[in-house]
Amino acid sequence: MPTETSTVRHQPIRLLSSGVVNKIAAGEVIERPASVVKELLENSIDAGATRVEVSIRNGGLDSIRVTDNGSGIPADELHLAVSSHATSKIRDADDLFSVRTFGFRGEALASIAEISQFAIRSRTADYDSGHELAIAGGQPSEIEPCGMPVGTTVTVDELFFNTPVRRKFLRTSQTEIGHIGEAFTRVALANPACQLGLIHNGRALHELAPCDDWRDRIHDFFGPEIGEALIPVDNQIEQIRLSGYVVDPSVSRSNNRMQYLFLNGRYIRDRSLQHALSEAYRGLLMTGRFPVCFLRLEMPYDQVDVNVHPAKLEVRFQEGGRIYSHLLGTIRNRFLTTDLTSWAQLNRPGDQPGEHQRRELPPALHPGASLPGPAVPPPIPSPFQQPHIGFTQQPISRNWIDQPRQQSGAPLPTPAPLLPGKPAATPSASPSQPKIENHPSEIQNSARRQTALQVHDTYLITETDEGMVVIDQHALHERILYEQIREKVTSGGLEVQKLLVPEPVSLTSAESAAVLENSETLRKIGIEVQPFGGDTILVSGYPAMLANHNPAEMLRNVIESLMTPGAKLQQRDVLDDLLNMIACKAAIKAGDRLTRDEISALLEHRQLCQDAHHCPHGRPTSLVFSREELDRRFKRI
Ligand code: ADP
Ligand code: MG
Repeated sequence: MPTETSTVRHQPIRLLSSGVVNKIAAGEVIERPASVVKELLENSIDAGATRVEVSIRNGGLDSIRVTDNGSGIPADELHLAVSSHATSKIRDADDLFSVRTFGFRGEALASIAEISQFAIRSRTADYDSGHELAIAGGQPSEIEPCGMPVGTTVTVDELFFNTPVRRKFLRTSQTEIGHIGEAFTRVALANPACQLGLIHNGRALHELAPCDDWRDRIHDFFGPEIGEALIPVDNQIEQIRLSGYVVDPSVSRSNNRMQYLFLNGRYIRDRSLQHALSEAYRGLLMTGRFPVCFLRLEMPYDQVDVNVHPAKLEVRFQEGGRIYSHLLGTIRNRFLTTDLTSWAQLNRPGDQPGEHQRRELPPALHPGASLPGPAVPPPIPSPFQQPHIGFTQQPISRNWIDQPRQQSGAPLPTPAPLLPGKPAATPSASPSQPKIENHPSEIQNSARRQTALQVHDTYLITETDEGMVVIDQHALHERILYEQIREKVTSGGLEVQKLLVPEPVSLTSAESAAVLENSETLRKIGIEVQPFGGDTILVSGYPAMLANHNPAEMLRNVIESLMTPGAKLQQRDVLDDLLNMIACKAAIKAGDRLTRDEISALLEHRQLCQDAHHCPHGRPTSLVFSREELDRRFKRI
C-alpha cells in the first residue's frame, strides 16, 4: 500500500532572540496606550508610591510619562528592571500563589521598551542622585546619572513605532485617552490613599487628593449622582470579606461597565460575579439595565489564581460557588434590611421632565449608616416581585399623547404634533374630559376617520379592502416616528430644545470620549454636548420631540449605541442606530391605552409610511388576515 508522507519539511528549532520574545509578550500585554498606563501605574503602586502623576500627549500615541515617589530602583538593577522575566516581586513558583503585588511576571517594562522610545530614571533613598537608562526599540544605551528626587519616572514615546500593524489599529487620540482614563480610574479607585493626577496635552483631567474614605474617591470620579446613592455593604464569612458599596437601584446603566470589583486590591472582571450582582438586583431594575457597584473582595491569597490572564483582568477562584453566593446573599440581605417601600416614591409621575430625579436617602440608607445584617444570609424568598417595590423607572411617557401632569405645578411643553402640519393628538386626552368609556373600545366609523379596535392596550384591529389587519401599536408608531425623524435629520430640520441650564452628566472616561468623538453625529440628531472637565459632559440641547425625557438618561441611552463594537466604523450606522433609539423611546408602548384621536392618527400615518410593514428593528408592524382566509376558516367557502 502506498504510504502518504507529509509535504511539510522540518525546520530547525531555534531559541528566539530576546527581542522577539519581548515583542511576543508585548503583543499580549500591551494592546494600546492604556495598557502601558496600567502597567506603569501598577508598578508605582507596587513600589509603595503615595503620589503618582501620569502625563499623556496625544492620547498616549506620542508620549506617556509616569512619575512616582516610590522606593526607586538602584542604579545597578536598572538593566534588570527592563529585562524580561526579571522581577523583584516573586522568587519561586510557590510565590505565585501568594502574590500581593500587581506585577509578578517581570515582563511589562521589557515589552514596552521593545516597542517604543523608552527611558527610565530612578533614585532610591540610598543614593544622592538618580540614574537614567534609555532604550530605543529594545536597544539600551549607557546608564547616565541624573538629578532627581527619590522615586521613578518612566517615559514611553512613540509607542508601537516598530510594530506598524498594532499602530494601525489604534483609534483617535480621543478614544485612546478614554481608555487611558478608564485604566487610571481602576487603579485610582483601588488605591484611595494614593494621590494621583492625570494630565492630557498639558490639561489636568484628574487631580485626586489622597482620601481615607472610599466614598470620597468614588465621588471625585462619578459626582453626586453616584456619590450620594451609595449603599454600604460589609460582610465577612470565614476568611472572605466583601465590602464597599452597591448603588441605589434608581441609578443604573445600560451596560455593566460601571461594576467595579476589586479582588485583593486588583480590578477584575468576573462573569459569574456580574451574574450574582444582577441576581441581587433582580426585580429592582428594568430589563436591559445594569446595577452600578464598587465592591472589594478580600480573601487569602492562596484561594485564588491570578496567573490566568495576560493583563490579569480575570482570575480563577478556588471556590467560585461560595463567592457567588456570598456576593448575592450579602447584597440581597442588604436590600432586605432596608425599607424598600420608601424608594417607591422615586419617579413620581409629577417629576419635572429633564429634572434630575434624585431623592433623599432615608436615614437608614445613608452611606455610613451602620448595617446590622446577620453574617449568614437567610434563603431569599424573592421579595422583589411585590408590586409595591415599583421604584424602577416609570415607563417613559409618550411623545405626542402625553397628558398634562397636574401635580407638577409647572406647565409642560406642548406635546409635539405627530406630523408636521397635523394638530397634536392630545386635546381629547386632557384629564378633565372623559376617556373612551367602554374598553376595549370599538370606535364608530366616521367619514373622515379610520377606526380600529384596541385590544389588550397593545394591538389595533382594523379592516381594509383585503381583510382584517392586526397592528402592533408600538411597532407602527416607532416606524412612523423613525421615518419622520430621519426625514427631518436629512433636511436639517429637527427641532432642538435648548436647555436653559445645561445638564452635567458624569460618565466613565471611555464613555465621555465616545460622546465627544461622536458629537457631530449627536448634533445631527439634536443632542448638543460639550466637554465640562474631567469626564463630565454638559448636555445643552436635545431633540424637542423627546421633551419629556430626562436629557441625562437620554445621553446614557445613546452611549450604548456609540459604544457597540464596530459602531464607529460607519457614521451612517451610528446615526441610524440613534434614530432608532429616539423613535423607540418616543413611541407609544404596548400597554398604553390610546384615545380615539390617537388611534386614527396612527392609522392615517400608516398610509404615509414608506415601509409600514416593519418597525425599524425589522419586526412586523402588522399582520393581515385576508377576507378569503377568514371565510375559509369559518367554512363559508
Ligand atoms: P513586574 O512588575 O511584573 O515585576 P515589570 O517589568 O513591570 O515587572 O517591572 C520589573 C521590575 O522593575 C519590578 O519587579 C520592580 O522591581 C522594578 N520597577 C518597575 N517599575 C518600578 C517603579 N515605578 N518603582 C520601583 N521599582 C520599579
Ligand atoms: Mg509590573
